[in-house]
Amino acid sequence: MRVLGIETSCDETGVAIYDTERGLAADVLHSQIAMHAEYGGVVPELASRDHTRRLLPLIQRVLDEAGLTRHQLDAIAYTAGPGLVGALMVGASTAHGLARALDIPVLGVHHMEGHLLAPMLEDAPPAFPFVALLVSGGHTQLVEVEGLGRYRLLGESVDDAAGEAFDKAAKMLGLDYPGGPAVARLAESGNPARLRFPRPMTDRPGLDFSFSGLKTHTLTAIRRLEAEGALDESARADVARAFEDAVVDTLAIKCRRALEATGLRRLVVAGGVSANRRLRERLEREAAKRGAEVHYPRGRFCTDNGAMIAYVGAQRLLAGEHDAPGQMQAVPRWPMDGLQPPDGG
Ligand code: ATP
Ligand code: MG
Ligand code: FE
Repeated sequence: MRVLGIETSCDETGVAIYDTERGLAADVLHSQIAMHAEYGGVVPELASRDHTRRLLPLIQRVLDEAGLTRHQLDAIAYTAGPGLVGALMVGASTAHGLARALDIPVLGVHHMEGHLLAPMLEDAPPAFPFVALLVSGGHTQLVEVEGLGRYRLLGESVDDAAGEAFDKAAKMLGLDYPGGPAVARLAESGNPARLRFPRPMTDRPGLDFSFSGLKTHTLTAIRRLEAEGALDESARADVARAFEDAVVDTLAIKCRRALEATGLRRLVVAGGVSANRRLRERLEREAAKRGAEVHYPRGRFCTDNGAMIAYVGAQRLLAGEHDAPGQMQAVPRWPMDGLQPPDGG
């Protein structure tokens, strides 16, 4: 089955074709990062308009790259939520219109299920069951995954997501949006011994996270250095390093706890922050100590992309799931624990 996947939940227009027999056939992406950068974050109205402009040409491009015509598609999957409602509606209505024209099934899928299963597109995909750490711009969650649609939320952020914290720290340091990669780059030259930031919520049991206090701590440290006239480039790097170390350490501690609590030895890390090199190194060290394995998506599938949507859609479409005709879905808020396996059981 050849499935066209469409992702438009936020600031990336992603389109891919996944073939359930042959794997990923093609994958294209247009990022709106440069367009939103001058505003310091995503402007929803601009995002929707740009998806409208880009989506059809990208669908043609992915077909060309795969050497297929649209008549060779068997189904369409699109991101139904969570995300920006206007942006979601562009993908949802295009998917439904195209599916109606081609007379093929169409299915709205959950964006975070896409992130969660993105590592399945790699050469050595993780087997079920596993613990997943979902760390993206809008989510920080630990999930016990037994199979497709069998998810148990173990813990999540009570305030900011890890990616959001990276983005806000970047802003305080005068770095461009999106902040994660910029903070990580600046942290490279930082001295890890100069400043130490707190590891929120690690001093008590539990698998929830909180990153908003770390944000305040970062701002306080920057203001203090500024007042001392000491906020030079090397001090900014030290702040970035202290911030990154605190986030990485906090995530690693909770992952270790989640593996202990579930007795599992397989960890999947996905979402934009899973691209972070220091986080990967830290989790690999932890896993090696415990005889556990860690899986990630390749770099370009850590952040939003069409491939993960095509993959998840394919699994569910193959099991017979699809939207009712004309029932396009655009669900801005949609907790993942409401998901079910395709057979409903
Ligand atoms: P969600 O998936 O929760 O709706 P989103 O789609 O905006 O949110 P993603 O596209 O998965 O999130 O990831 C973007 C986030 O990942 C941003 O917050 C960005 O700063 C962060 N990020 C990307 N690369 C890195 C990195 N190397 N280190 C840390 N953070 C990173
Ligand atoms: Mg994004
Ligand atoms: Fe995302």
